[in-house]
Amino acid sequence: VNLDRVDVAILRAVQADARLSLREIARAARVSAPTVAARLATLEQLGVVRGYQASIDPEHLGETRVHIVVKARLQTAEVTARDIASMDRIRRVTVARGGRILAEATASSGSEIDAVLDGIAALPGVVDLDHHVGVRTIKDEPVAILPDGLSASLACFECRKPIEGEPVRIRLDGRDHYLCCASCERLYREKYGRIKAAA
Ligand SMILES: [Zn+2]
Repeated sequence: VNLDRVDVAILRAVQADARLSLREIARAARVSAPTVAARLATLEQLGVVRGYQASIDPEHLGETRVHIVVKARLQTAEVTARDIASMDRIRRVTVARGGRILAEATASSGSEIDAVLDGIAALPGVVDLDHHVGVRTIKDEPVAILPDGLSASLACFECRKPIEGEPVRIRLDGRDHYLCCASCERLYREKYGRIKAAA
């Protein structure tokens, strides 16, 4: 899905300040407030905009960052990464090539760090792990770079896999839904129908 200049202008505005009102965003993007509301709804649905949280610095609250490099069994690295992600104190998890998983945790004491490391080491798919305790964070800005002419990669609403090529786009209840193929479309329509009927 290609994002146009209005989408990019809206993303830049909300990324700079998530507390802007729709009218303020509309002024920045030079469109109407209802247009902003509709575009943001689509961007949220696409998963491009994940949320509008306050950015709280853990180090100002006495927390230390711990960077962990996990060597996992290649075949099950994705599952291991999800297990790690579900643990308390884990802020970020990335699956890299070769069965490596990069994770970041925060902890306020040595025993908490040990608890995190022991928890990861005990997971079935973990072969080895290495960790580094951060002394000082120089930059921590989880921002997206927003050049003109962006496109959003879409996950199929049914199977959650990335959609290669043109998505199957269906409109239900005034919103766009994206599927990777005809069989996912059929399953999704059935499920959607059942959920609506139950509601
Ligand atoms: Zn699919």
